[in-house]
Amino acid sequence: MELSKTFHFDMAHRLSFHTGKCRNLHGHSYRLEVTLEGEPDANGMLIDFHEMKRIVHEHVVDILDHATVIYEKDRLLMDSFPKELHHVIFPYEVTAENLCRWTFERLLNAGLTIKQVVIWETADSKAVYTK
Ligand SMILES: [Zn+2]
Repeated sequence: MELSKTFHFDMAHRLSFHTGKCRNLHGHSYRLEVTLEGEPDANGMLIDFHEMKRIVHEHVVDILDHATVIYEKDRLLMDSFPKELHHVIFPYEVTAENLCRWTFERLLNAGLTIKQVVIWETADSKAVYTK
């Protein structure tokens, strides 16, 4: 059995390696779909959707929403970003692909029986990370 839930968050980033417009600090309204797998319990439930929402918010959405996510080797932002503003330091470039992998690993570590994470950076562009 698979169970999916969709979330939304707004986040700013830039790609320090990029030579086009993505090198500029900008934001997206991301859509996140989390899919769990497992067998339903005696009540026919894999996980309470409310509990799934709580865990995904605590470990991912509340951290990223309205944050600026900064690659730790991006000297331009690391040296100049106002530290009193909400920001998150990433160990790698903040691409949709890496965001997807980061989300998958955090939810796995949070104890969810995660199967897949999909992140839409725009309405027609997404990254998929599957176990
Ligand atoms: Zn972008």
